[in-house]
Amino acid sequence: MALKAPEYLSPSSITTFEQCPLKFKYTRIDGIREPPTDATLLGNFVHDILEKMYLADPGSRSTNLAREVARDLWDNQYRDQVSKVVAEKKLNDFRWRAWFCVENLFQLESPETRNFDGVEFELNTSLDGILVRGFVDRYHLDDGKIVIGDYKTGKVPNAFFVKDKFFQLMTYAALFRASGVGETKRLELIFLKGPQVFTREVTDWELEETVQRIKNVSEGIKIRCESESFETNKTRLCDWCYFKSKCPAWSKK
Ligand code: SF4
Repeated sequence: MALKAPEYLSPSSITTFEQCPLKFKYTRIDGIREPPTDATLLGNFVHDILEKMYLADPGSRSTNLAREVARDLWDNQYRDQVSKVVAEKKLNDFRWRAWFCVENLFQLESPETRNFDGVEFELNTSLDGILVRGFVDRYHLDDGKIVIGDYKTGKVPNAFFVKDKFFQLMTYAALFRASGVGETKRLELIFLKGPQVFTREVTDWELEETVQRIKNVSEGIKIRCESESFETNKTRLCDWCYFKSKCPAWSKK
């Protein structure tokens, strides 16, 4: 009996499949949840602070407000979660690293002057018959066209690797078009650690290339579900893979 392919894809599941089909199977078909890490918790904490700050009245968006929001999220949600992953004596360091990202945003822009048309905006649309979902950190309209912004809390990448980092946002642009919300003119990757912002204009050609890439992945998943065979792909990225200890590619014979 063939395996059942997931009902929908997301930019991260697409890149997981491209990185390693077996890892995709573990997470999206077998439903094994990867436990949170220091990096994922830091990203979630910072994203939540910025989301709440940008949902507040523009005139109130100060570092004081951000600090209050951060304290509230920490006390009511993140302290417990982070304590399970980060040693007690490193908790303050974790909070400082998160705060450093938030403060850096204030270096990049004045939050009280920004107006967004969507914050943590959900997209859930079919691209050529493939259901794709994603959450846009923020977007606004500029001359009637969409500008998509996405926060990153990882380290600023080498320029050589930046192009592929735009895949997620290019997918959102394709979803905005397919769902009829509008055309996207620019993508912004906001690396808060730098801080540094990478921007990219959106062309029809790149949107078509993105949709084709998604179709290839969807087809690849279908073939492997039918054969019930998802191969491993042993690379340097395996060192960060949660499944390494059970992975056949790394089992000692
Ligand atoms: S350890 Fe490497 S080969 Fe194995 S599942 Fe993870 S990414 Fe794939």
